[in-house]
Amino acid sequence: MRLAFLDRLRRGVPSVSAIRWLTALGMAVAAGTLGLGVMLLLQARTDAWRQAEQASSNLVLALSRDIARNITLYDLSIQGLRDALARPDIDTISEETRRMAMFGRTASAEYLGTLIAMNPAGDVIANSNIDSRGPLNFADREHFRIHRDQPDAGLFISRPYRSRVRDGELSIAISRRITGPDGSFGGVVAGSLRLAYFRDLFAKLNLGSAGSVTVFGSEGRVIMRRPFKTEDLDRDLGATVSFRKYLEAESGTIIGKAALDGVERLYAFRHVPNLPLILSVAVAVDDINAIWLHKAITVGSVLILLSGATVALCLLFRREILRRMLAEDGLRTAAESLAIIAATDSLTGIANRRAFEERLAAEWRRSIRAETSIGLLILDADFFKRFNDAYGHPAGDDALRAITTCITRYVARPGDTAARYGGEEFIALLAETDEAGALKVAEHIRAAVAAMALPHAGNPYGHVTVSIGIAVARPWLGVSQTSFLSLADAALYSAKDQGRNRCCMAGGDEPARPEREPLLLVHS
Ligand code: GH3
Ligand code: MG
Ligand code: MG
Repeated sequence: MRLAFLDRLRRGVPSVSAIRWLTALGMAVAAGTLGLGVMLLLQARTDAWRQAEQASSNLVLALSRDIARNITLYDLSIQGLRDALARPDIDTISEETRRMAMFGRTASAEYLGTLIAMNPAGDVIANSNIDSRGPLNFADREHFRIHRDQPDAGLFISRPYRSRVRDGELSIAISRRITGPDGSFGGVVAGSLRLAYFRDLFAKLNLGSAGSVTVFGSEGRVIMRRPFKTEDLDRDLGATVSFRKYLEAESGTIIGKAALDGVERLYAFRHVPNLPLILSVAVAVDDINAIWLHKAITVGSVLILLSGATVALCLLFRREILRRMLAEDGLRTAAESLAIIAATDSLTGIANRRAFEERLAAEWRRSIRAETSIGLLILDADFFKRFNDAYGHPAGDDALRAITTCITRYVARPGDTAARYGGEEFIALLAETDEAGALKVAEHIRAAVAAMALPHAGNPYGHVTVSIGIAVARPWLGVSQTSFLSLADAALYSAKDQGRNRCCMAGGDEPARPEREPLLLVHS
């Protein structure tokens, strides 16, 4: 289906509804552009979050594997020491062989501190650090107490502490219980791991401006954290909402505000395999949002500008078109007024001769198509020169206007036209009218003028009268307009000749009778 308004637009005459449609279309384009932009930006946001989630999850997985592998290695050394102590010949072999048996498995890793064994009283009975001075007792250490009191503690990782033997370096202890053949408490083997291990491991990570990595003990105590603050170490976060969530699953992500610094972050957490440790890697929400917000602001501003420009252009276009339409309307009205003025006789207000000729031509064509007859009356005021001479020109004008009302009273059907033909002559076109009809109309007019009884001393009848020539044409029979007019004109002259104040039919057979006056109708 072709849109009518497009058609009209092509022809250069848009309608009000077309403009409404175009404006609506423009607005829809603007809204669509904005909508699409919003959709893309929301998608960018979702993508940014998904990427951040994936990256942190992958990172926490890789880190937890590294931690698990290293601590398991240390555990092997601890177990090696325990196994060596259990050897029956441990006290008989040479010092060198004994050290080989006890500490031979000790990994040469840089972060592993001293490896020691304690007897049930907490006295250090074996120490990998040959330089350590004097007898040592660690019965007060947390890990010693745990193993003494809980036979099934397994591998225990202590809270961070400052090493007594290594210049107060921050460390954690990884320990196992020594169990006698009868199941009794036989002491503790423990290795210290310098927290520098975690610090160096975390230092290489790119976590954005406010990211964090935290290693928690199984009860929620902070073992190590980046960004590092000494006061954060050993903080108990076991009661925080985030940590409770960490306990609910092996791994996952949550969004929350950090208890330590109040920064909102996306946390990816994971339990370190086979160890009582939980690791969390977090990216600041602001950093994630910054990724897409930057894009959103740039793209969004461009889109808003574009949509705004589209709307503005639409409105301008609409205003311009409406303005032009108004102007065209004005011109059309003016042209119509001019056309009316050009077609109207100024004295009487009825059609002038030019307009009459146009209408006669149109009616002529219609009459040919419809095979109808046309009636024509030519009217002329009798002795009008004398009227002017006697009563003055203005009174003559009044009389012409009075005659006009008599004519228009009877020439009023659709298709009829009454016109001033010039001077004191009038002409009436009667559509679809035959001889009888035309005669009747003519007689009505003549009688109406006479009935006004406008005094006219120069007229033998004593008042204003008109003579009327009548002709009826059947154009489809091949008559010409000129001969039609001539016939009517000739009939008018016949009426004049025969004494005026009468109607005369061109080529008519029967006399036309005035209704209220003596018979004055003649044949030409
Ligand atoms: P006849 O009966 O033979 O028609 O005589 P007549 O005097 O009417 O004819 P004539 O053609 O000699 O004169 C026409 C007069 O009509 C001349 C003029 O004074 C008058 N007339 C023509 N136009 C106007 C007009 O617009 N206003 C007035 N007041 N008189 C007009
Ligand atoms: Mg005349
Ligand atoms: Mg006259």
